[in-house]
Amino acid sequence: MLVVMQTHATPDEIDHVVDAIRAMNLTPHPMPGATRTAIGITGNIGAVDSRTLEVLPGVSELIRVTKPFKLASREMHEADTLVAIPMGQAFQLDAEASHVRLESLTYEKNVTIGPGTCTMIAGPCSVENEAMILRTAEFMMENGVRLMRAGAFKPRTSPYSFQGTGLEGLKILARARQKTGIGIVTELLDTDNAEAVEDATDIIQIGTRNMQNFALLKRVGMMKKPVLLKRGMSATLEDWLMAAEYIMAGGNYNVILCERGIRSFSDHSRNTLDLSVIPPAKKLSHLPVMVDPSHGVGKREFVPQMALAALAAGADGLLLEVHPDPDHAASDGAQSLSFDGFKKLLESLRKLAEPLGKRLN
Ligand code: PEP
Ligand code: MN
Repeated sequence: MLVVMQTHATPDEIDHVVDAIRAMNLTPHPMPGATRTAIGITGNIGAVDSRTLEVLPGVSELIRVTKPFKLASREMHEADTLVAIPMGQAFQLDAEASHVRLESLTYEKNVTIGPGTCTMIAGPCSVENEAMILRTAEFMMENGVRLMRAGAFKPRTSPYSFQGTGLEGLKILARARQKTGIGIVTELLDTDNAEAVEDATDIIQIGTRNMQNFALLKRVGMMKKPVLLKRGMSATLEDWLMAAEYIMAGGNYNVILCERGIRSFSDHSRNTLDLSVIPPAKKLSHLPVMVDPSHGVGKREFVPQMALAALAAGADGLLLEVHPDPDHAASDGAQSLSFDGFKKLLESLRKLAEPLGKRLN
């Protein structure tokens, strides 16, 4: 159920409706919009008795949300969601500053993920050591990429494969962030490490294998940091949006969806990158949709074509694996771009973004 407030509803009237929803043992989710506030209601098993709320001052109408995912749906929130990543904390800027100055370069303080932009998140599959992370962070910042990905905890198919550098890896990421001002995106594998990962990152990544780890989804739902939710490798669009709903139901509305390829009969690529999911995902949900072509195809030579195709298909951003020495990477080297390869791709993406009305971010 969605309570739509009148355009001129006062803050007191909104608070009153929120309290009334709580009094019914339900959970209110106020969502301020451009012209009016809407208040989503979750927690009901059957239908909500709408008469109690309809009569309250400032209420315009009550709308039943027909989809099983509520907070993630466009019915609940019509406009595209823009997730803002507050950058520059590392510099202890005053709250008023809108730009970060770093040696000769000036950056906007916040990175926004959503309409009008294509946000780049790039970096190695895993944190291997401090030198390669620092080198990558500096390279990214020099090339206008403000968010670096790198896993400290790695979910590997084989228990004998490199499992990541764990807590030490998180410390390395935190130092790279402190030194260069780059934003960090890293995967949270289990609830045990939730606090440590939350402290070290700007965006928490939930991997494909954990898309339906409901305990983990509930845990990040209680956090403040944005969550990049990868699509499960066998998840339907509805499964994926229901996973987003778990996070949002806990009060964390900053969810970014990320398509990374699904399992199919095809064996010419590591996975089948399902770009056809972007338009329906954006039709059904207001959340930003990013694409990870690296895990999608699994081979470096095919990554650029699919990155460009993802942008053309409406992706709000790209997650790419880039390594200073891909042939000697500890994980996913075959699908990682070299610095040169990534620079070339960035040039092509910038050219394509313009006619699409997007800005590379
Ligand atoms: C990753 O991003 O390195 C990763 C493990 O991704 P996925 O969960 O999509 O396999
Ligand atoms: Mn990887």
